[in-house]
Amino acid sequence: MNKKILILPGDYIGTEIMAEAVKVLELLKAEGEKIEWSFGHLGGAAYDAEGHPYPPSTQKAACEADAILMGAVGGPKYDSLPRAVRPEQGILGIRKDLGLFANLRPALAYEELAAASSFKPEVIAGLDILILRELTGDIYFGQPRGRRSNAEGAEEGYDTMHYSRPEVERIAHVAFQAAQKRNKRLCSVDKENVLETSRLWREVVIEVGKQYPDVALSHMYVDNAAMQLVKNPKQFDVIVTGNIFGDILSDEASMLAGSIGMLPSASLDVNNKGLYEPIHGSAPDIAGQGKANPLATILSVGMMFRYTFNRADLADRIDAAVKQVLRQGKRTGDIAQPGERIIGTKEMGDAVVAALKK
Ligand code: NAD
Repeated sequence: MNKKILILPGDYIGTEIMAEAVKVLELLKAEGEKIEWSFGHLGGAAYDAEGHPYPPSTQKAACEADAILMGAVGGPKYDSLPRAVRPEQGILGIRKDLGLFANLRPALAYEELAAASSFKPEVIAGLDILILRELTGDIYFGQPRGRRSNAEGAEEGYDTMHYSRPEVERIAHVAFQAAQKRNKRLCSVDKENVLETSRLWREVVIEVGKQYPDVALSHMYVDNAAMQLVKNPKQFDVIVTGNIFGDILSDEASMLAGSIGMLPSASLDVNNKGLYEPIHGSAPDIAGQGKANPLATILSVGMMFRYTFNRADLADRIDAAVKQVLRQGKRTGDIAQPGERIIGTKEMGDAVVAALKK
């Protein structure tokens, strides 16, 4: 049976970068891969077409699909809309609806782009780490939260951090399994010296780890992890952490890679059904000009084959094709150094397809 992919290009550069990802799918289908895809609306485009950033038609198609590829949503056209129909509600809606609790973000420093990074080449050359962030729990969703008067009558805001054993167990399993597919080292990041939530987190991760004796487990406090990521990032293979720590560390790690236009991501449910998207936004400043870098979106297609379709062979081919075009010196504006020839979105997509061809 064909694997069903729902494509949600989104807004501004979303449609431009997604057109290049589709070229990759077309090539693989022509080679005989059993995949099919359909398009839907999300974010501002969905509001324009159907009056809601996550309309019922998209909801239905998302539930029926095996995987979802998303571009990016949002932009100035939608900034003055009421909160309930803002484009980001579309992303939050689909994540919640599909129970996407595990966010995977690789941070990879391509040798060819070392000069684009703000880090010394020797610190990042050959860097290849994966950050796994729990996405649906922690202080971002904990109740109670709100505003109140404290005992002295002063106004205060408060939030609640918590994780349940099952929540930690399921993200830990994803993390150990991801480490098994890589270099078999997992670092769990917490604040166990201060937080009760982290004490439980660490206990559960250790317990789950007993089922994965081939993976070397270590632990690190989040403040140290933030420091180690810039001091010696290559010591890490897979990092697993909670929602708030992961939010911060994954953004920090993305800077190691040099350009925002190069980084894919995945959000998975318990059955490895996933939503795949570049980490960047809709880049309204360059939309419609054919300048956007499509590589993060194409690498998201690779992640989809790796994590949802269990096709490491195709994922490796896509990753290798991207490396090859970089070696050939192909550069969109965001990754070009002064004096380098700059190519457009379509030319970059075509170059990847040419490199992918057997
Ligand atoms: P952004 O990521 O869209 O852009 C930041 C900078 O990076 C811009 O200069 C942009 O031109 C550049 N850039 C981003 N992607 C690029 C690419 N593929 N190729 C070349 N250059 C690229 O962030 P922003 O400007 O803060 O946000 C713009 C809109 O995107 C906002 O509405 C924001 O809410 C939304 N956003 C959406 C997502 C998402 O859909 N997941 C994520 C972040 C931001």
